[in-house]
Amino acid sequence: MNAAKDILQMALDQMDLSPTIRQAWFSKIEAVSFENDRLLLRTPVLFHKEIIDARFLDPMQQRLSELFGTSITVEVLTGDEQAAPQAASTISPDNEYTFENFIVGSSNRFAHAAAIAVANDRGRDYNPLFIYGQPGLGKTHLLHAIGNVMRKNHPQFRIIYVKGEDFTNELITAIQESNVPAFRGKYRMADLLLIDDIQFIAGKERTQEEFFHTFNTLYEAGKQIVLTSDRPPKEMSTLEDRMRSRFENGVLADIQAPDLETRMAIISAKAQELGCELPQDVMYEIAENLKSNVRQLQGTIKKIKAKHELGGEPVTIQMAQSVIDEVKSINPGLNPTPQMILKAVSSFYSVPVDQILANKRSKETVVPRQMAMYLVRKLTSASLPEIGKVFGRDHTTVMHACNKIEDARKQSAETDDIINTLIENIQNL
Ligand code: ADP
Ligand code: MG
Repeated sequence: MNAAKDILQMALDQMDLSPTIRQAWFSKIEAVSFENDRLLLRTPVLFHKEIIDARFLDPMQQRLSELFGTSITVEVLTGDEQAAPQAASTISPDNEYTFENFIVGSSNRFAHAAAIAVANDRGRDYNPLFIYGQPGLGKTHLLHAIGNVMRKNHPQFRIIYVKGEDFTNELITAIQESNVPAFRGKYRMADLLLIDDIQFIAGKERTQEEFFHTFNTLYEAGKQIVLTSDRPPKEMSTLEDRMRSRFENGVLADIQAPDLETRMAIISAKAQELGCELPQDVMYEIAENLKSNVRQLQGTIKKIKAKHELGGEPVTIQMAQSVIDEVKSINPGLNPTPQMILKAVSSFYSVPVDQILANKRSKETVVPRQMAMYLVRKLTSASLPEIGKVFGRDHTTVMHACNKIEDARKQSAETDDIINTLIENIQNL
């Protein structure tokens, strides 16, 4: 028995086509396969394919989806055309990214709550949910966690998870192979669309155009969309305005770097997960030294475990420090020194470092100096007195500077932009 053929028959019977129509467009059609909820058809006549795509594909998909109780896609090939790979990886339920193993702290509380709401269908007004933040802070984790809950609650849902980059590449391939309708069909059949690192589509006109239409189709059909990005929509400078306003119409949830308490909780949970017991002082050493990236925390614990288990080294603060140094050296910008920060601020404002440090209160140097203090405070583990030393000032001056910048950040989008740009510049050092 050829399942694909039977399914094609079923679809045609269900569609109530007149014999003339059926003869005109479907007489030459051949059922190729039925796999992963996709029915592949082939016709030697390009014109037939075009007509079917335009007029009959949607009703056919609809009938089949009703029949099967799950969404079915139909794709028509012509000539030697190969089927588009079913690239969008759907999420396997045993995925390791769940809400249960996500540690919540003040830095991610809102994003976590919004993700939970969406995952439990309470997110009607949270569409799209746009989660943004620096790398390594749990955006992909939350995205998968949503997918996993949805998969459990709605086994019939078609959940599409795709990276912004893959979405773009897939579209380019589809264009090259004149296969855009199939590409569209696939994404527009989604009940839940999860796009990771959407910043990759910014600046790519055709991809934005295509995504815009897919977005609207799903949005208007009441389907949930969740996006992640390394920056908020307003900072995606090459994003089309209409796209930006679509994103901003939903809920924007940012994830900040975790505070000390949360870092301790994450380290402790990860160590336990890895079956690796860490003394309290070692955990503290890690938390104090690696502030900006959860992925790095995890890497450090894994390395410590390996050194201990394979090399027989006892887990001491010294051993942890050497691992921390190794981890830091891989991407120095993620754990910048005050000097690195000073340099970045200096080149951003075009004010030499020695003037930032000088004992002068000219208008040109005050803001860069305060900004540098603020960023050292934010991105390093230096204490207020330590920062004071770097700048040749006392700790109350540093505190005042940090408060000043923090206030300015809250009041002006421009200051917020500048800070984000500076952080980005520093992290990419
Ligand atoms: P992003 O997508 O923001 O770059 P990921 O989601 O890939 O970051 O997170 C990096 C790693 O850190 C993942 O292994 C993830 O499980 C872990 N992680 C991030 N945040 C948390 C958290 N709050 N609790 C537990 N693990 C986390
Ligand atoms: Mg990610």
